[in-house]
Amino acid sequence: MANTPHPPPESFARYVGIDVGGTNIKFGLCASDGSILRKSSAPTDLLRQPEQIIRHALEFCGQEVKTSGQLAGIGMAVPGVLDTSTWCLREVVNLPGWVDRPLLEILRNESHLPSVIINDANAAALAEHANRQLSTESLALLTLGTGIGCGLTIRGKAFGGDHGCAGELGHLAIQFGDTAAECTCGRRGHLEAYAGAPAVISRAKSEFAKCEWKSLPGNLQKETISPLDVANAAEDGFSVAEQVIRDTGKYIGQALGILGQVVDPAVVLLGGAMTFGGANSRIGIDFLETIRETVQETTLQQVGSGMTIDFASLGNEAGVTGAALVARKAGNQS
Ligand SMILES: [Zn+2]
Repeated sequence: MANTPHPPPESFARYVGIDVGGTNIKFGLCASDGSILRKSSAPTDLLRQPEQIIRHALEFCGQEVKTSGQLAGIGMAVPGVLDTSTWCLREVVNLPGWVDRPLLEILRNESHLPSVIINDANAAALAEHANRQLSTESLALLTLGTGIGCGLTIRGKAFGGDHGCAGELGHLAIQFGDTAAECTCGRRGHLEAYAGAPAVISRAKSEFAKCEWKSLPGNLQKETISPLDVANAAEDGFSVAEQVIRDTGKYIGQALGILGQVVDPAVVLLGGAMTFGGANSRIGIDFLETIRETVQETTLQQVGSGMTIDFASLGNEAGVTGAALVARKAGNQS
């Protein structure tokens, strides 16, 4: 049955999802609902070029799957600014040599499968959208970490905008003037300059510097601290740490209020490494509550009250699942 011209039945079909990150690349062999049947990962340093990554992905699927006619599509999620008219990356950090390469053509030529390239944040948003069994509702997935990203699923479809920059919430201006904090992009007042992990740590350090050294919790009495250290100190009742997290929630809520007024999504999810303990901690829940309150305070009543804001569910495998889900759509259309 090798090289069958007809797509395999849905229950039998398998899709390859690849999530290319600056540090690691994740691979998944997925069922038609996006669930990962088998997974693997490799350091990006080892597989530097798209061709190597695609060959590795096909090898990972195994000879049996490759020749059985089960493979029905392949999707590759990539970071950076993706031009969806040419399927080239226009800007990306940590992937030297990738800019302006025709990624969709390369994926098709290497795999001979229905192929899709998608922005990684949008892939993760699609996976969360499917996981919540949403249909035409819109969803935004905010990724909180060193940078702040946002994947958008609008009316059930990934949305990258005309220049691949839709949902770049980290670079939304929330403060203005010459005293506004400088962002990594060189502009001032952007959300990332207030609520990205380095900004949160820097604000925490300057607040903690005003305290008596001996009054600081043990986990803050070190040179390098993380947002989780701040969350742990807050959990232990250190009010200065609680305030830093509350302020961060307000900044994020302000940006989400603007997103709400523009896009009016039914669901906004918070993912990434910096959720201050997330749903399993009092501080994580307080952080979420501050964001919800700020959105309510800054938007029209219909927008704020209609927006469900919650933590994301799928963790760091969402990109692989989302890439496989778009590959299924591409397979069904070919
Ligand atoms: Zn910026």
